[in-house]
Amino acid sequence: MADDTAVLWLRRDLRLHDNPALVAAAEADRLLPVYVFDPARYGTSAFGGRDSFEYEKTGGRRTAFRTEAVADLRSRLRDRGRDLVVRVGDPTETLADLAREVDADAVHVHTRPTPEEKAVERRVEAAVDASLVRHWGHTLHHPDDLPCAVSELDDTYTPFRKAVESESTVRAPAAVPTLPPRPAVDPGELPTPASLGVEATPIDDRGVLDFEGGETAALDRLDDYLWETDALREYKETRNGLLGRDYSSKLSPWLNEGCLSPRRVSAEIDAYETRRVENESTYWLRFELRWRDFFQFQFAKHGGTFFTPGGIRRRDIDWQEGGEAFERWRRGETGVPFVDANMRELAATGYLSNRGRQNVASFLANDLRIDWRLGAAHFETELVDYDPASNYGNWAYVAGVGNDSRDRSFDVLWQAHRYDPDAEYVTRWLPELDGLPPEAAHEPWTLPESERAAFAYPEPVVAPETLRDE
Ligand SMILES: Cc1cc2nc3c(=O)[nH]c(=O)nc-3n(C[C@H](O)[C@H](O)[C@H](O)COP(=O)(O)OP(=O)(O)OC[C@H]3O[C@@H](n4cnc5c(N)ncnc54)[C@H](O)[C@@H]3O)c2cc1C
Repeated sequence: MADDTAVLWLRRDLRLHDNPALVAAAEADRLLPVYVFDPARYGTSAFGGRDSFEYEKTGGRRTAFRTEAVADLRSRLRDRGRDLVVRVGDPTETLADLAREVDADAVHVHTRPTPEEKAVERRVEAAVDASLVRHWGHTLHHPDDLPCAVSELDDTYTPFRKAVESESTVRAPAAVPTLPPRPAVDPGELPTPASLGVEATPIDDRGVLDFEGGETAALDRLDDYLWETDALREYKETRNGLLGRDYSSKLSPWLNEGCLSPRRVSAEIDAYETRRVENESTYWLRFELRWRDFFQFQFAKHGGTFFTPGGIRRRDIDWQEGGEAFERWRRGETGVPFVDANMRELAATGYLSNRGRQNVASFLANDLRIDWRLGAAHFETELVDYDPASNYGNWAYVAGVGNDSRDRSFDVLWQAHRYDPDAEYVTRWLPELDGLPPEAAHEPWTLPESERAAFAYPEPVVAPETLRDE
């Protein structure tokens, strides 16, 4: 089309590298990249329309990470003589106004498989006087390259993985295109978390990593994990760790805000396999990225059913309402140290290991029998790497209402001794238990009452003997 203008509506795709929507939009004669902070995504919401449980959709850590990521993208565009237009407002009206102002022919966007994100797309599509062009850019495998239609994908991971491993390839990451000039529009001010109504959260130096938002920090971390520390070499052995920056890649916050493309990660693993080593660990990082893909495609297949109490398996389980036990779980005061240490790490840093997430989720859903969606909503607030499909998909899985018909309940005491044999992790987050022998630090109720009186730690919220698998 001659002399045309494109708007690029950026969402969780805050990068220049391997960005299919950017590549397509950059074919226009003028390009307006836009990011809209939607006030409805910040502040408190009633869970599922219920007044009994209010939660923040985006907590302080993810809000800070996101504002940093938007600032970084703006700065990378400015380095190329371009800019990012930033607005705070309802995306529908904001994009309709901007598209009108620049007389746009098309608005390009990366689509997402989850219901809220799709609903916003539909509203914008109806409001803008230009065509909305949807792209897909956040998974390793493109849906068009899958062995079958998304609606026919298997609901369990292993057949999905085997099928994509043997019948699908990963596309090469797209290069950053030459960027056409930007129409003259006020670029707007970047909001701060405070101006979005979100309380700042202090940095805790016990955190595994200082997660800084943006493509620049994302590429640095990728470089660090593969090339500088060579940690990928041992990922398969270390991935169940709980302490330290390199037991796992820690790429999830950048992948989920779109600062990093999974195809870029895959291409970097290819290079690492050629230049350093190809082993089970390099295979396993891709294996985990395929788990991420799996949940994205599962949400594309099942949609909103994932958010129901019985999940995609439509199980009839009489989940308990929140109440005091849920509050104790949220605060990390259940009296079960391995659960509490993980919940305190989450509260203090916004990040939690995969092992930790599985255990605290299982404790809430399988031991306390509390509605797993309340736990998932709490994670939605707190996690710096929250993604709707990865979060609700994993929660449903652990709660036994998702993509596996087997019992996924964890024996949290067995797990504590197995993965934290010296109680180093537990005492890092529960200093009140420091100095106890590991056995007692994991099960303080086994100490005589006189000894327990020496430290302030709650009695367990459930009878400890019920925590053991028979
Ligand atoms: C209850 C629960 C909730 C979770 N919520 C989220 C969430 O909101 N966002 C999120 O990204 N992950 C979530 N996970 C999955 C997993 O815990 C994190 O992806 C992982 O801990 C992130 O750390 P990492 O980047 O170092 O992972 P690594 O071990 O280095 O793995 C590399 C990448 O693979 C992907 N990945 C690994 N495991 C999974 C998995 N089980 N499901 C989906 N993707 C995976 C992630 O993108 C991760 O960055 C959840 C897991 C559980 C059990």
